[in-house]
Amino acid sequence: MDFEFTEEQRIFREAIRSFAENEIGPLVEEAEETEVYPVELIPKAGKLGFLCVRYPEKYGAAGTDKVTENIFLEELGRVCSGISSGFQVQASLGTSIILEHGTEEQKQEYLVPAIKGDKISAFGLTEPNAGSDAASIQTTAVKDGGHYVINGTKTFITNGSISDFTCVAAYTDKAKGASGGVSVFIVDRDTPGFSVTRKLKKVGHRSADTAELLFENCRVSEEKLVGKEGKGFSYLVASLMSGRISYGGRCLGVAKAAFEASTKYAGERIQFGKPIKDFQATKFKLARMAMEIEAATWLTYRASWLFDQGKKCMKEASMVKLYTSEVAQRVTNEAMQIHGGYGYTMEYPVQRYWRDARLLTITEGTSEIQQIVIARELGI
Ligand SMILES: Cc1cc2nc3c(=O)[nH]c(=O)nc-3n(C[C@H](O)[C@H](O)[C@H](O)COP(=O)(O)OP(=O)(O)OC[C@H]3O[C@@H](n4cnc5c(N)ncnc54)[C@H](O)[C@@H]3O)c2cc1C
Repeated sequence: MDFEFTEEQRIFREAIRSFAENEIGPLVEEAEETEVYPVELIPKAGKLGFLCVRYPEKYGAAGTDKVTENIFLEELGRVCSGISSGFQVQASLGTSIILEHGTEEQKQEYLVPAIKGDKISAFGLTEPNAGSDAASIQTTAVKDGGHYVINGTKTFITNGSISDFTCVAAYTDKAKGASGGVSVFIVDRDTPGFSVTRKLKKVGHRSADTAELLFENCRVSEEKLVGKEGKGFSYLVASLMSGRISYGGRCLGVAKAAFEASTKYAGERIQFGKPIKDFQATKFKLARMAMEIEAATWLTYRASWLFDQGKKCMKEASMVKLYTSEVAQRVTNEAMQIHGGYGYTMEYPVQRYWRDARLLTITEGTSEIQQIVIARELGI
């Protein structure tokens, strides 16, 4: 058993921490205030080799592993979970199905520019009437000669209004059900019939771009079908599983940011003639926060390791998503309490961590859905 990060992973953490603090950090307040994603970060990160770090070197990526991907997401999440979510989609659902099942032409046209940061990706599964029950999507793609005609609406799409292309799930044959009737297509931003109908205003993750997309007789060439027709749902299940492990890094980043801010504040805030960290009540809070972060850390990195070894980790992936997102909420809640009234003002970042953490038990499979998966994997 080896619980140490490798030398390479430690060096990578230092490099990405420096990028997150120095390049992302100064943009956070404005992006959160204006609710505009700082798109200039994507090519900047691409040039430094920070996009899709787990993807193979032959496509221009760093060729690392899931552990390193989570180090990356942890460091980004520590600085801004909203901005981090755009990077996360770029390195997972927005491109992973192309990496795993796309043709070489699709990889050259979409994957390579996404890794360089020349193209931004999005992933469209959720619809106004289909969230947790993904099999109930209503979007269809009907074959018409050498094309497919897509009709439907996708909502809550991260990077939706800033993306150059979106990987969209649609029914090609409803009669076959989800397991044999859903396919995935790449839709370019300038495809006639594709439009961004609105950007959504949110409680947290305000710097993240979240949009509603409309496909109205949107004709895409059959070359935009990713993998085999009807196999899309199985591709989605695998990608979502990988994405749940990546959520660990993002949740850890938010929790660690809140813990660090709380430790600092507790040392500075004087009440009854001493720093509030000298009260046992505060010490106990900080101790529990640290313990939960520690447990969440090793759940995340063990699952990442299992993934890297090619071992089965469906159960562990859901455990990571469920546990780390709940830890992020408990830790940010306590952080708010430690900050007292100042924490509730917009003057301290702790309110952002608290608002951001609230999302984490909802997206990419709610906590309830993760429990269903875990129970199923346990054979219960
Ligand atoms: C900011 C943000 C970004 C997002 N980004 C993307 C994206 O890029 N691409 C994309 O496709 N989607 C995205 N989503 C959608 C996200 O994945 C869904 O919100 C999520 O899957 C939950 O679906 P829902 O919101 O429709 O909730 P619902 O499915 O309606 O669930 C509502 C409640 O019912 C519970 N529930 C539902 N079914 C069951 C059940 N069987 N048993 C027990 N409880 C159940 C849920 O757990 C939840 O508590 C995003 C969402 C947000 C808010």
